[in-house]
Amino acid sequence: MKLLEGKTAIVTGASRGIGRAIALVFAEHGANIAGTDLKYDENAKTLEKELNEKGVKCKMYASDASNFESCNELASQVVKDFGSIDALINNAGITKDNLLMRMTEADWDAVLTVNLKSVFNMTKAVQRTMLKQRHGSIVNMSSVVGVSGNAGQSNYSASKSGIIGFTKSIAKELGSRNIRCNAIAPGFIITEMTGKLGEDVVKSWSEQIPLKRGGEPKEVAETALFLASDLSSYVSGQVINVCGAMNT
Ligand code: NAD
Repeated sequence: MKLLEGKTAIVTGASRGIGRAIALVFAEHGANIAGTDLKYDENAKTLEKELNEKGVKCKMYASDASNFESCNELASQVVKDFGSIDALINNAGITKDNLLMRMTEADWDAVLTVNLKSVFNMTKAVQRTMLKQRHGSIVNMSSVVGVSGNAGQSNYSASKSGIIGFTKSIAKELGSRNIRCNAIAPGFIITEMTGKLGEDVVKSWSEQIPLKRGGEPKEVAETALFLASDLSSYVSGQVINVCGAMNT
């Protein structure tokens, strides 16, 4: 059974990692994908080709999710190109980890702007279309550290906690119009973002996880599929941890 047949999903930061996995899993379930990333580079082109070959429509856009105007332009263009926006996956994110003692104002601003303001920008940009349609599912990529905090990641944790507050508020604000909004809190997922960490850090993280391994991007993508589809039609305002029981 295809869960997103004929639906259109915007996935931000889709060129690699979790965003790419979401685009692939959604396309396998019949969704047309409007993917974004900072650049229309080789990764973006490869994904676009791969998904179009699967028989769904995929278009990748160079769009900065942290820029309010770019998000408005993107949403208008997606409606022109695809006709609807049924799901929005706010996935784009960055880290600039440091102890507070060494964290610069620029590191704080960059992480809050890319991770949190982008969610505001994109949600606001699709709101009118989803209100008109009287349906929509918004999925925001938080993190377990947004739920429980983490030393050395105060900027990142704050941005991911902010996403949870925003998610719950939007679920309450737009629920009467059949628009749902949920967050996913991934734990330790093996992507380029975590690839920056040393081997010893990865090993010690894995040992602390009850399932004894990092997660695969696909395992996050399948949770996003549940939240974007009608399988979760009565789930809104929630945070689902995808973390191998790291956070319970
Ligand atoms: P990644 O770094 O591999 O991929 C992120 C993608 O977002 C990249 O393609 C990047 O170019 C894009 N991006 C960055 N800034 C952007 C912007 N302003 N506009 C548009 N695109 C932008 O990261 P990932 O591991 O795939 O993480 C995806 C999301 O999941 C992030 O929000 C991250 O915080 C969250 N997350 C990841 C983990 C993990 O362990 N990997 C854990 C918890 C949460």
